[in-house]
Amino acid sequence: MTPMIEIRNLHKSYGDHHVLRGIDLTVRTGEVVVVIGPSGSGKSTALRCINRLEEITSGTIIVDGYDLYDPKTDINHVRTEAGMVFQQFNLFPHMSVLENVTIGPVKVRRMARQEAQALGLALLEKVGLADKAHAYPDQLSGGQKQRVAIARSLAMQPKVLLFDEPTSALDPELVGEVLEVMKQLAREGMTMVVVTHEMGFAREVADRVIFIDYGKIQEEGPPNELFADPKNPRLREFLGKVI
Ligand code: ADP
Ligand code: MG
Repeated sequence: MTPMIEIRNLHKSYGDHHVLRGIDLTVRTGEVVVVIGPSGSGKSTALRCINRLEEITSGTIIVDGYDLYDPKTDINHVRTEAGMVFQQFNLFPHMSVLENVTIGPVKVRRMARQEAQALGLALLEKVGLADKAHAYPDQLSGGQKQRVAIARSLAMQPKVLLFDEPTSALDPELVGEVLEVMKQLAREGMTMVVVTHEMGFAREVADRVIFIDYGKIQEEGPPNELFADPKNPRLREFLGKVI
């Protein structure tokens, strides 16, 4: 079967700072990959490359059969293939929750407003926020905002969801409700790449955990193996700090 994401020999520099130094990664359809690694190791940069929010220095990234950096590829199409959920939720403060969820399908996918509203309400129901459809973002808790952000990404009907530390900005008591929604998506077969420090989530949900350090994948494996018997000394040190 064709993989959902295929990254080959990805390099990315900012000026003379060589941040990604040869990333190779294949993600199967329906697979959940958790990415861990120290701050500054290149995790966010790698995710942004998969969503074409960056220009890459060299290498290839293919998502759902589309070569992202081929000039012939329609960038807007690619952006709707991979949805991104950020640490900071980036909701539009002047729009209701429902409008935040429907604006993408209406503006980008040219969906009829009524259809988008029905989809938006269904997605809010899915993330447990149907009763907040007409609230505004500043009336919500951080956990609720992040669940709206997930619904908003889902509204674009992406093939892949990319999460960049989705719970890092949340008070500890709000982390669980967001992870629950993510677990549900994983159970439904969504292909997901998740940068997180939530090792419990990684253990429970990840098919594969990837350790990035110095812009390279230093080690990878199923969570039970990787956590029980880390080979790379930097991974051992890292796990010692986060677990
Ligand atoms: P992580 O997400 O693993 O903490 P990042 O991918 O954010 O790491 O950053 C990796 C390195 O790239 C860091 O040294 C960071 O300072 C640098 N970097 C990230 N974004 C930019 C940018 N837009 N311009 C210059 N340097 C950047
Ligand atoms: Mg980051």
